[in-house]
Amino acid sequence: MVWQISVDECVFMERDSIWNQSFEQLAQWCSNEGLPAYRARQIFGWLYAKNATQWEQMTDLPQSLRQRLDECYTVDLPQIIHHRTDREDGTEKLLIQLVDGKAVETVVILRDAKEEEGFTVCVSTQVGCTFACRFCATGRMGLVRDLEAGEIVAQVLLVQRLGKAVKRVVLMGMGEPLHNYENVLAAIRLLCGEESLNWSPRRITCSTVGLVPEIYRLAQDAPGVKLAVSLHGTTDQKRAEIVPIAEIYTLDRLFEALRYYHERDKRRISFEYLLIRGVNDGIRDAHRLVDLLRGLVCHVNLIPNNRIPKSEFTHPSRQVITRFAQILKDGGVAVTIRASKGRGISGACGQLATESRGRESATTTDV
Ligand code: SF4
Repeated sequence: MVWQISVDECVFMERDSIWNQSFEQLAQWCSNEGLPAYRARQIFGWLYAKNATQWEQMTDLPQSLRQRLDECYTVDLPQIIHHRTDREDGTEKLLIQLVDGKAVETVVILRDAKEEEGFTVCVSTQVGCTFACRFCATGRMGLVRDLEAGEIVAQVLLVQRLGKAVKRVVLMGMGEPLHNYENVLAAIRLLCGEESLNWSPRRITCSTVGLVPEIYRLAQDAPGVKLAVSLHGTTDQKRAEIVPIAEIYTLDRLFEALRYYHERDKRRISFEYLLIRGVNDGIRDAHRLVDLLRGLVCHVNLIPNNRIPKSEFTHPSRQVITRFAQILKDGGVAVTIRASKGRGISGACGQLATESRGRESATTTDV
């Protein structure tokens, strides 16, 4: 059902952000306002191609329309309030303040340290997270709130507006993307929409800790989007020690969903496997992982655990990591040992959270 909002009603409604609107919603609003269809395209052009952040900048729109837009929508983007760069590998971390004063972190990664390869932006989808994975700083915060679709896309726009060519987005920052399903899906549609950023879905990777029902939904709703699964354990018991939600979504259920996801359009699935000393880094763990992945077209990223405050988890020695990877290779599994980028600024996997920290090996700018 489409709600027809009269001119007067709109004035009394709380204004939504224009960044949350799909092109279709804005086109409907224009139609309700009696405006020609091309106006929606013009407004999206200003937002996504011409980097406007104020209605007054949209100089080819009539003044009356700019005023009407201002009555119905806000156009402010969240603000970068802190910007740090890891001296070791150039990874950047942005602290972004949302309009209600809450904050999230966004990480900007330079692939293979080559600017021509473009930047990968690791975006947050929630303030905090409810799933309490034991290696993860965000999980310690609890869930504060979901991000809106526009707040997810805004993280990409803010990085672009720093003059960086963003080639890939990974939904792997703060929060569990599939636990904020509707907003994440709307954000993916804004990234890929012809009238907004017009990306191929293959430039987007959605991570999940293994929320089975939403994996089935995503397979239907977002063809082409890559999936990355945080696995971290090879038995239900061991996995649940690290990722508590694994008590509900067992490996059997998870892998059934992943086979379905793969069957939808033959996309390769990535697995993130955090190597934690003495917990999941043994020879038997590696062999069980080979057995688990047999027959699935996939790739495994081995990530040495990144230390967070007050955690007993540490990373294994180089020798143990290499031995683990070799067993996977010998078992026919494609594997990469991931150098943890952004460790010097607490921007690596599992380290994102918005409480204040000491300033490690980084250059820091308050904006
Ligand atoms: S790893 Fe992901 S799902 Fe687990 S607590 Fe951290 S943000 Fe949440």
